Amino acid sequence: MKNLKYLRLFEAFESETLAKVFNYVNKSQKDEFKVRLQRLCGKLGFPMSKLSDDLFQYLPFNKALSLAANMEDEPCDNESDTIPGEMCSGPTGDELQGTIMRTWGRGRRKVKCDVCKGTGIKPKTNFPIKWIKFWFDKDGKYVNTTATDGQIREQRTSYSGTLDDAINNYEVEKENIPYDGLNGYETGDIFYFKDGSYNGEGVAVLFKEYGRNYMIQDFAPGSTPASNDWKKISKYAWVVASSGDIRAPLKKLKLKNAEVEKEEEKPDPYTWNAILDLGRMTISKTINLKEELNNANFALVLDYVKMKKMMSSGSASGDITDTAITKAKREESRQGALALKLPNDIKNANFNRYIKQISQNIKITDDISNLRRIFQRVFGFGYAGHYILQGLNFSDMDTIFEYILNFMTSDDDYDKERYVNYASRTIKERMEANMGYNNNIKQNLDYLLTASPDEDHTNVVDMFMEVNKAIVKKIQDAPLETIEDAVILYNKIKNMRESYRNSPLFRKCQRASNVNYYLEAGDRDQPLRYLNNIDNSEIPGILSNFDQYINYINRL
Ligand SMILES: [Zn+2]
Repeated sequence: MKNLKYLRLFEAFESETLAKVFNYVNKSQKDEFKVRLQRLCGKLGFPMSKLSDDLFQYLPFNKALSLAANMEDEPCDNESDTIPGEMCSGPTGDELQGTIMRTWGRGRRKVKCDVCKGTGIKPKTNFPIKWIKFWFDKDGKYVNTTATDGQIREQRTSYSGTLDDAINNYEVEKENIPYDGLNGYETGDIFYFKDGSYNGEGVAVLFKEYGRNYMIQDFAPGSTPASNDWKKISKYAWVVASSGDIRAPLKKLKLKNAEVEKEEEKPDPYTWNAILDLGRMTISKTINLKEELNNANFALVLDYVKMKKMMSSGSASGDITDTAITKAKREESRQGALALKLPNDIKNANFNRYIKQISQNIKITDDISNLRRIFQRVFGFGYAGHYILQGLNFSDMDTIFEYILNFMTSDDDYDKERYVNYASRTIKERMEANMGYNNNIKQNLDYLLTASPDEDHTNVVDMFMEVNKAIVKKIQDAPLETIEDAVILYNKIKNMRESYRNSPLFRKCQRASNVNYYLEAGDRDQPLRYLNNIDNSEIPGILSNFDQYINYINRL
């Protein structure tokens, strides 16, 4: 029965709803493309039969590439922490921009908004995928899939333009450069060059490969670099390895026309497209998308937001079960999605044992072999509470989790090793940065304790240290045997942070939150200013509210 139903859906899908889309795809590749769409639908629990032409658009290369996610900024909607109902002024364009009213001693004052940092623009915290672009070459052969989610990912800049060899467009920047002077320059730098064999002279671009310097130009054919990239620049290559390879010193040239440089500053549409792994629905940090899409000629662009909306509004219902909808909603929260990705046997496996078992095939660094240590390292060990209250390193923790989960679910040893290395590198980078943070936190706390105006205020500082202890202990005591345990602990940590910031239960704690917020930074007077800013009359309320917060943490 199941198979029958599936067959029916599949036929409907094939014959009607995607007729137009399939006209663009090479016949021999239709099945492959269908499988890709199936994976995507499977991921969302979206019935294939509802996938229709109007979710897609056919676009030629440049149009498809330029299509950006809606990156419109939203005004900041932060509410004052001391005066309910007072909101951030938003992007007003005048001196009031990004300011918010709060109490100041006995009066009130407009101060810079902590959330938008005076820009008036709501900081973006999540980047939902808007477009999924399936790329094809001119014959309709599948090339790659990319996603656009509103984030800009820097591309590796390599000189790939065609050489402008009109000498009049250049001015001389430096003269008398000997052959080995090229070692101090980069690929893409432009020179006036006369080859050692009297072929000619003119504008040439430096191209470096394996420590050798090649002059790329259109008059002197010589030895060529091993890779092919240089061919995009000009006709010939000439290696410059000795003084005999040039017949006169080189001149470093620079484009006269500043407009050309300006043009390079134009937004690069490659930066807002990135390769999408349809199986995992993860976006890779592609650094050379231009290469990946080299043969692409057009794209079928899927409106992913619209597709998800169809799911949640139920207009795609009929075949969509409630559980599928719930599942799609849960995908919105990253942790939820992460947990769901895990098959049961992995979810419940003892992590240490699992790692041991894996390490027989591949090299596993011990950075990731201990779940508790990962939490402690990312959140600064004994200062974890201060980190978590201010949301430090959460995005790195997200990334590390993702790597670990990809590592656990991938069936390929090579992939596994790659993910382990990514995870362990991210952890190491965090630890290095954390050394600076921890130092500042320690010194700033000491300073606050000595510079505090009175005992009441000192109690507030002590209270932050108490909260920190409670959180550190929570991490220390959490059961952490399986990866599911880790996901649960991380959700609790997010809850600690979220409740502290936003729950009305802890409104009085929030009154003092700025004291902690700047602890990891180098300016010790800033937390002190916020401490002094608290009125003595408020302190008993703040302290008892923090007691409640500690209780809350202990019960999580
Ligand atoms: Zn604001």
